[in-house]
Amino acid sequence: ALTLRGVKKSFGATPVLKGIDLSLKWGEVLSIIGASGSGKTTLIRSINGLESLDQGEILLGGESFIEAKHFVAKAQDKIVDLGMVFQNYNLFPHKTVLENLMLAPEYHHKPAQETRLLALAMLDKVGLLAHANKYPHQLSGGQQQRVAISRALVMKPKIMLFDEPTSALDPELVSEVLLVMENLAKEGMTMIIVTHEMQFALKVSDKIAFMDAGQIAYLQTPDELRNNDDARIRRFINNQIL
Ligand code: ATP
Repeated sequence: ALTLRGVKKSFGATPVLKGIDLSLKWGEVLSIIGASGSGKTTLIRSINGLESLDQGEILLGGESFIEAKHFVAKAQDKIVDLGMVFQNYNLFPHKTVLENLMLAPEYHHKPAQETRLLALAMLDKVGLLAHANKYPHQLSGGQQQRVAISRALVMKPKIMLFDEPTSALDPELVSEVLLVMENLAKEGMTMIIVTHEMQFALKVSDKIAFMDAGQIAYLQTPDELRNNDDARIRRFINNQIL
């Protein structure tokens, strides 16, 4: 589904991605873990075209859509195939939940009623149908993040990208968001998740990429990672599983 080849990225003189090769099949869930500053966020932002590449390319469905320094022709069509959920949900504060979902650019060419029905269906999927007419500030952080997920789903993405979706949440609100993500994974959504939630990553992922200093040190299944005796991994897993 998605392939990265030789992706490199520096900020000034600091190399942050030092040559990333990665591939993901349709329906797979890939989690990206690793220490703070190892390049996880930069990697997922690169996949979504939010960071330009210095070297390398990214292919979606076998076709290159991002190359070093530029989007290839038609990249704009491809980028809508990727739904992204950020740490801070970025909802429009003066729009209702339903209005936030209906702002999706794709809708501008569709009848309002069709848009509305799809938006309501996506809200139902994340368990928030009853909150459609509320404003973001009337919802908890966990509910707002679930709205952000449903907003991304409204675009009918082929791949969902999550950048630390629960790290801004109070601990008691984390699980409701993870549950929504787990259900998406069970439905067969192709997903890439940057997360510090190790137990979650071990549970839902087909593969886990462990990043260290701008490189993928390991790309393993959860079982392989559990049995990986590299001290960096042990430290990571032991710190995360309480
Ligand atoms: P965390 O878990 O803390 O979010 P991370 O693994 O996601 O960390 P990145 O956010 O990708 O790491 O950052 C990797 C490195 O790149 C860090 O040293 C960071 O300071 C640097 N960096 C990230 N974005 C920029 C930027 N826009 N300009 C300059 N340096 C940046």
